[in-house]
Amino acid sequence: MQNESDSQLKLIGPFRQIVTMRDLPLKGALKDEALEVIYEGGILINSSQIVAVNSFEVLKKEFSDQLIAIDHVEEDLVALPGFIDAHTHACFAGSRARDYAARNNGKSYLEIAQEGGGIWSTVKHVREADKYDLIDATAKRLDKLLASGITTVEIKSGYGLNIEHELKMLRVINEIKQKHQIDIHATCLAAHIIPKDWEEGEEAYLQLIIDELVPKVKEEKLCHRFDIFIEEGAFSVETAKSYLNTLKERGFQLTVHGDQFHPGGSQVAIDCRAISVDHLEASGDSEIAALSKSDVIPVALPGASIGLGCAFTPARKLLDQGCSLAIASDWNPGSAPQGNLLTQAAILGTFEKLSTAEVFAGITFRAAKVLGLNDRGSLDKNMIADIIAFPTKDYREILYHQGELRVSKVWKKGERL
Ligand SMILES: [Zn+2]
Repeated sequence: MQNESDSQLKLIGPFRQIVTMRDLPLKGALKDEALEVIYEGGILINSSQIVAVNSFEVLKKEFSDQLIAIDHVEEDLVALPGFIDAHTHACFAGSRARDYAARNNGKSYLEIAQEGGGIWSTVKHVREADKYDLIDATAKRLDKLLASGITTVEIKSGYGLNIEHELKMLRVINEIKQKHQIDIHATCLAAHIIPKDWEEGEEAYLQLIIDELVPKVKEEKLCHRFDIFIEEGAFSVETAKSYLNTLKERGFQLTVHGDQFHPGGSQVAIDCRAISVDHLEASGDSEIAALSKSDVIPVALPGASIGLGCAFTPARKLLDQGCSLAIASDWNPGSAPQGNLLTQAAILGTFEKLSTAEVFAGITFRAAKVLGLNDRGSLDKNMIADIIAFPTKDYREILYHQGELRVSKVWKKGERL
């Protein structure tokens, strides 16, 4: 345990470059010239918090009588704030490799579902899974994420789809949260699809969630965000609106899976003042224009485009129209089985012509805002000391290798892992 009471200044460095990601706008296009790059930089921390980021030598001199340690890095490293994956379904059981192969053999979504695949097959696996097996499998995925530089992750429920199993998922996520070094933010996605064993329609299902799940979520403090999938075959615009408005009144933050195959969800996100709307592969000019007049943060999920072989989120247009843009992995066993956020963000960058600054912003401070967090996403005074470092001298090497240049060091809350 670290001692929080005394001043215990530690200096980490020298890094060949520190890309701080500080003092950048939440919305709109970003040029690489806007990035602050500190050469031969140091990061001064007090326990888990950053005190200053500057030249290593300057900090060493200025704080020489207060330093209790120098965490000296020997090799060529470029430091960045820890990455944030603001949209995952990393708590799941079973594999959908059969769906993937069938899709690439020309089978339709409907055919795959009729043959026992699709989201419902994952629901069956999760319902059957032992709680400890689910904890184990999810924690292993999180180990992989942390090693790849993701220091904060969102995880959704949504494969339980009844009161008992949605609660099981949320409790599992919270149990892992107590043990794992990665920071976890849980979201309730009980409104993922209408469960196949529910016969009373979508409105009655969402009413059940409101009446029976929401009070338990509050009582056990299982999460403070709710999500819904608005799409043909999932939930309709009108039903979603009334569900989200009720949740808003109950004090929950809102996010929406919207405009993935058909537009409609983004307008609901705007109307219900959701924090983010995620997917947007089907958003056209009018949806983009409406989003640009709102504070809803668009979230691109390139892993789903790569997994399904679909168009990417129109990230360039969104940014040029003045929107913010976060990028997340959507890691799930069906449409986005890969789970490598850096690879996906780099590939989105090539297809959508995003600057390095825009890609990094999408997985750092702009992603932090999607989770309502103001204490991370940049390397700056008072921020949590979540620091990652790549073995290179030039930050541009990171996206150039499209995920193959791996993070070699991670500091979580100031502690080197
Ligand atoms: Zn998703």
